Amino acid sequence: MNLLYKSTRSENETVKASEAILKGLAEDGGLYVPSSIPKLDVSIEALSNMSYQEVAYEVMKLFLTDFTEEELKLCIQKAYDKKFDTDEIAPLVKADGAFYLELFHGPTIAFKDMALSILPHLLTTSAKKNKIKNEIVILTATSGDTGKAALAGFADVPGTKIIVFYPKDGVSPIQEKQMITQKGENTFVVAIDGNFDQAQTGVKEMFSNQSLANEMEKAGYQFSSANSINIGRLVPQIVYYVYAYVRLLANKEIQQDERINVVVPTGNFGNILAAYYAKNMGIPIHKLICASNENKVLFDFFSTGNYDKNRDFVLTSSPSMDILISSNLERLIYNIADQDANKNRSFMESLSKSGVYKITDDMKNKLVDFYGNYATEEMTASTIYDLYNSTGYVLDTHTAVAASVFKQYGKETNDTTKTLIASTASPFKFTRSVMNAIDKNYDKMDEFELIDELSKLSNVEVPHAIEEIRNADILHDTVCKVNEMEQTVRNYLKI
Ligand SMILES: *Cc1c(COP(=O)(O)O)cnc(C)c1O
Repeated sequence: MNLLYKSTRSENETVKASEAILKGLAEDGGLYVPSSIPKLDVSIEALSNMSYQEVAYEVMKLFLTDFTEEELKLCIQKAYDKKFDTDEIAPLVKADGAFYLELFHGPTIAFKDMALSILPHLLTTSAKKNKIKNEIVILTATSGDTGKAALAGFADVPGTKIIVFYPKDGVSPIQEKQMITQKGENTFVVAIDGNFDQAQTGVKEMFSNQSLANEMEKAGYQFSSANSINIGRLVPQIVYYVYAYVRLLANKEIQQDERINVVVPTGNFGNILAAYYAKNMGIPIHKLICASNENKVLFDFFSTGNYDKNRDFVLTSSPSMDILISSNLERLIYNIADQDANKNRSFMESLSKSGVYKITDDMKNKLVDFYGNYATEEMTASTIYDLYNSTGYVLDTHTAVAASVFKQYGKETNDTTKTLIASTASPFKFTRSVMNAIDKNYDKMDEFELIDELSKLSNVEVPHAIEEIRNADILHDTVCKVNEMEQTVRNYLKI
């Protein structure tokens, strides 16, 4: 059976999975959603004997129904290979009453690798299936994590080029070094004299520039996006929740049919939405716990039913969650509005016009599966400190937000359901904040001294992703002004 995708903002358009992956966003500005969420068609018991790659196939085949078995298995095989530093791909670590699902064993040591290592293959396969001859040019603006994960995913993938723009003074030194040392003939990295919003706006303008599109077409190119709203990123994220559940069962940490809670440190709402889809596929998940940092729009939304982005933007130590518009929330809104595209569209119009929308009581009642809370900067730091002192396990700042919310939830509800915490980055990626949380005296050390110190105290080898950049050559040194972004792209593509 073919699963079709429709837009969250109108009833007209239905597309196949490969078309949704190629387009990214629907023409009406909505997000593609599956017309229904498929149920797992193999038993949990059978899944518990499978490798990560095998589970990935069983989950993804239900969503990407126009991919042949051979195509999908090849994409999975190319994505989840030795790029990951463990055969398990996403290992579980038990610490202080919770199970941490480590999603940071990929090439850039953050959870974006879980999806961005397979997206290039899904995209090039989709292009082939839809008889697209053009080379795909991925254009991305990044505030740090996404850019590097996308570069690593697309590097040397035939039929693609990737161009990443980042704000010159707006990313961490480690993040910048990771990007400007990126190998691959088809990779281009550009610093702009501007902030992230200007980079983002410049990229959006190029996407909607019709004359640029025409010239690209003539030269045999077309743009595509590696944005987190692409279903080609969402679907691979469902896999690890299914995998984690069946591993817990296989390891006898839970009994058959036992429900678990899942805590996710949230920004754009993609990762937690994948957990919600896993629940709807039949994985026994009780509560989906949405953890925010001081940009707590989602906490306020879950408590009041009122989404309000009109507030100060706070720069925190968990920058990948510093977001005021959680784009993927639209897919949940659409679902609790009983898949009424008109109703959803009016909420989203209100959001873009006034920055606010309020859902109905009826819709709010459908959010019983969710619980939201947040952690302040102090709570995040003390969570890192406490867990390290009691167990020796060191969390990154994003995961610490989740661990803090997990504790608050337990105190508030006395719910003792076993809990999975999505661990979204290696502490080596946010070393300075992590080490400062453990001891303020570390602040005097430089980045790589801190990294060696973290390795010693956590008893974890410095990840390859960090070793690799320590002495790596700088391969990208282009800097441009905000108004030169288009010309820079033209120069690269020789158009
Ligand atoms: C992107 C990111 C998040 C937020 O994930 P969403 O899917 O946007 O909610 C959390 N932690 C880290 C380390 C990230 O890179």
